[in-house]
Amino acid sequence: KLELQGVTKRFGENVVCRGIDLKINEGEMVCLIGASGSGKSTLLRCMNLLEPVDDGVILLDGVDIAEPGLDPQPVRQRIGIVFQSFNLFPHMTAVENVMLAPRRVHNRTRDDLLPEVTELFTRFGLADRMDHYPDQLSGGQQQRVAIVRALAMKPEIMLFDEITSALDPELVGEVLDVLRRLREAGMTMVLATHEMGFARELADKVCFLDKGVILEEGPPAQLFSDPKQERTCAFLARVL
Ligand code: ATP
Ligand code: MG
Repeated sequence: KLELQGVTKRFGENVVCRGIDLKINEGEMVCLIGASGSGKSTLLRCMNLLEPVDDGVILLDGVDIAEPGLDPQPVRQRIGIVFQSFNLFPHMTAVENVMLAPRRVHNRTRDDLLPEVTELFTRFGLADRMDHYPDQLSGGQQQRVAIVRALAMKPEIMLFDEITSALDPELVGEVLDVLRRLREAGMTMVLATHEMGFARELADKVCFLDKGVILEEGPPAQLFSDPKQERTCAFLARVL
């Protein structure tokens, strides 16, 4: 479904992704792990064209989306992204935040969108929070609204960048539950995460990034229990 071949990204002299090859099949959940600065966020941002790549191809259903000059907008509708900081508009209610993009991009009306948006809020336990402003919601609720907002665009693939890192520990579970449900519903997902337990439980594939390369990848049972590379062992020893 999504395939990266030789993806390279530089910031000046700093080569942040060095020829990354990665295949994400339909319905799979792939987790990116690695130390701070290893390039996880940059790689996710490249995947939905928030950062232009310097070299390599990104095939979405066989079509190279990394080609210079290509309009990123349609790609960003097909590949949604959610960040650590929820980035909800503070002056808009939860439901207004969620409807904003589909109204603008798909030219749809509030009335037209309401049933499906209500269904999304209900599915993720937010039915009674639709008319709240962000500052009236807990961090976990805000992050779930941010996920609903991305889902309202009906993406085929979802990217999640450390979406539980800014949350109080007792709120992490409710956001991971949302991911668990999306996984069960067959959503294709790529996560940069520090939640090793979660990655171990649910990922189809875990990739260990080190200085901009995927040093090692494999099913979680293998990668966490029997890592082959010295640096993977050292990283896991620190975080597990
Ligand atoms: P963390 O676990 O802390 O989130 P990460 O694995 O997500 O780290 P990135 O944020 O992708 O790492 O950063 C990789 C490298 O790219 C770092 O050296 C960072 O300083 C650099 N970098 C990221 N974004 C930019 C930018 N916009 N301009 C310049 N350098 C950048
Ligand atoms: Mg990051």
